[in-house]
Amino acid sequence: MSVSRPRGLAQLIAAAAGLALSGAASADGVDRLIRAYPDQLDRRDGNELIWKDGARMTIDDGVKKSREDLLAKPDIDDMFAYPYPTGFPKTPPDADPGRIRNEAFFKKLYGDCQAGGVTKQLVSIDWLPRHKGGRVSLTRALGVDKRLKAVSDELDSLPEPLIRYLIPSAGTYNCRVIAGTTQPSAHGYGIAIDLNTRFSDYWRWSKGGYRNQIPPEIVEIFERHGFIWGGKWAHFDTMHFEFRPELLGD
Ligand SMILES: [Zn+2]
Repeated sequence: MSVSRPRGLAQLIAAAAGLALSGAASADGVDRLIRAYPDQLDRRDGNELIWKDGARMTIDDGVKKSREDLLAKPDIDDMFAYPYPTGFPKTPPDADPGRIRNEAFFKKLYGDCQAGGVTKQLVSIDWLPRHKGGRVSLTRALGVDKRLKAVSDELDSLPEPLIRYLIPSAGTYNCRVIAGTTQPSAHGYGIAIDLNTRFSDYWRWSKGGYRNQIPPEIVEIFERHGFIWGGKWAHFDTMHFEFRPELLGD
């Protein structure tokens, strides 16, 4: 699964002309999904996303949403309301790119943990085995377990001072809702991992606004393998990474 592909002609022309394409964000989002999940998704048909098994999902429900509603009841299109920024943040994030997840979409990809649909696909892998980081469980659906294994192999070779951020992992699979909401957590799909809580900063507990202790080397490795980082959210969760290849790359 590649996360780096050539951009569409329209984007190239717009970029060359220094223009923002009106209405391009939604088309671009669906293109990103189809590129990121080529074995599951087939094509766009008007306002519908067509799956390889024939299932159809509405792309844009036509409802104008507040920031809260974008998180609570997003359509497919809304998942791309905020672009996921490249590079390490130089200023505190002011949006939540990737925190918006359409529930039906992710349940179809990975199963419904409330109905037992995720646990049967969980695989246990060694986390940083050179450093005896223990075992973590992710889904084998879409090869997410293999992607995390590739992340783990690279992290395992980082200079020793960086290892303390990574082990022990604070958890992977967990069938729960996001604290303070009714939205399923990415942990319930088996696509997320939390690093060492000792170096974690979380918006709900933070008194003084945005703060991060996670070094950029770690973020860069995760992103290169398709995992986004909760440290790029205004509602920051700096120990959290989840597999969202549609938000990475061009
Ligand atoms: Zn997490």
